[in-house]
Amino acid sequence: MLEDKKKDQAKIVYPEALITTDQIEVSRIVEKEILIETNPFEMAKKQIDIVAEKIGLDPNIREYLKRVERSLIVSIPIMMDNGSLKIFEGYRVHHSTVRGPGKGGIRYSPDVYLDEIKALATWMTFKCSLLNLPLGGAKGGVCVDPRKLSEGELERLTRRYTAEIINVIGPDIDIPAPDINTGPQIMAWIMDTYSMHKGRAIPGVVTGKPIEIGGSVGRETATGMGLFYVLEALCNKINIDLKTQNIVVQGFGNVGGNIANILHEKGCNIIAVSDITGGLYAKSGLNIKELLEWRDRNNYLKDFQNKNYKFITNEDILTIKCDILIPAAIENQITQSNAYNINCKIILEGANGPTTPKADGILKKRGIIVVPDILANAGGVCVSYFEYIQDIHSYFWNLNRINQELENILVEAFEDVYSLSKEKFVTLRTAAYMIAILKLAKAIELRGIFP
Ligand code: NAD
Repeated sequence: MLEDKKKDQAKIVYPEALITTDQIEVSRIVEKEILIETNPFEMAKKQIDIVAEKIGLDPNIREYLKRVERSLIVSIPIMMDNGSLKIFEGYRVHHSTVRGPGKGGIRYSPDVYLDEIKALATWMTFKCSLLNLPLGGAKGGVCVDPRKLSEGELERLTRRYTAEIINVIGPDIDIPAPDINTGPQIMAWIMDTYSMHKGRAIPGVVTGKPIEIGGSVGRETATGMGLFYVLEALCNKINIDLKTQNIVVQGFGNVGGNIANILHEKGCNIIAVSDITGGLYAKSGLNIKELLEWRDRNNYLKDFQNKNYKFITNEDILTIKCDILIPAAIENQITQSNAYNINCKIILEGANGPTTPKADGILKKRGIIVVPDILANAGGVCVSYFEYIQDIHSYFWNLNRINQELENILVEAFEDVYSLSKEKFVTLRTAAYMIAILKLAKAIELRGIFP
């Protein structure tokens, strides 16, 4: 898969004697468009350009936002259980710390690469700005398939990665959190490694930790809860009865599993879900509780046996006829090649960057409402922020307070985005970016450019 991405991004070589300058220019435009469709950082920059045009953003600030503040690439040597040495590559990127310390998850995946992390860090900046959290945008990743490591290898990898990035993280600098294939245990190892280096317990260095060491109640389900609050607010606005909706969820991890479970409990019909191995479909609805138990025993959906469920691929799941489609796996899932075949009324982006700018244009023309990632899945960073302030104060809230404050912040952000989209006749994504970028631009202007 990584090879395919690299191939897509490979420079096209033009036999110059055979083609004209105009043809070269056309080819360059095509090449740039392929990049925007396949490279998440190019996609993030395109999204900035679209909004910059709309709001007449100062060209200097536009360029500033299209760069990341710093990217750290580290080598992580690990002694494997069999005595061999393996070296993994890791990243930590700060897109912007203009509004506060960096904030963003760490993902473990064999497909991770630097431009993906840069894009994810950029989207974190906009997400925090949109929600008015006093935080910037960051992201990290390690190029590894954690399922191929023993628990000891995974712990050594996490601790060495933490040691390698230790100078760029910290409660006042950049606070990591879970993302794809990372969870509370990995956050606990990061917190412990960081604390051991500093000589005292510093729980505020990461969020998404286990509750016993300074984690917050409600953090594990936060992104799913946030998706639900935003979806409910949208349904109220456009007079849709959520309970009667047929729902499809791509991705069955923290985000996909939680939103599927929450909506199932609210009485919605979840007709399809998928993990990395493919998905299950049943028109009359799936038993989500049973599938979550299966997943939690370390099983894949492809191996689940039920004669009433049909096995489908990750490509097919996106085009099933439904009311609400929730991509909650990885980026670049809805592209110009499948956007015409998407068969739903609402797309609620659980994943970061699941829809490319070209696909956005097609979906807009087709009247499909897209609730953008920086709003829809912001519940995770919001409760991470609550965890961070609880750690600073050493005073912990109960679940009611967490969920109430989460709902307040997300519904307010939704109302702002929805009203602006109506006022300016733009999509929810453009409206969300307009709000986020204007706040950031103001912060940059107030701070000025050093020196
Ligand atoms: P996770 O590791 O818990 O789950 C990921 C799910 O996607 C799994 O079911 C996995 O099998 C599936 N998947 C992985 N690679 C895939 C592929 N190539 N094709 C199809 N399916 C694939 O991760 P998560 O925390 O649920 O994150 C999912 C998405 O949500 C990511 O885009 C992440 O950045 C975003 N997100 C996560 C949080 C959070 O709090 N965890 C918050 C906001 C956004």
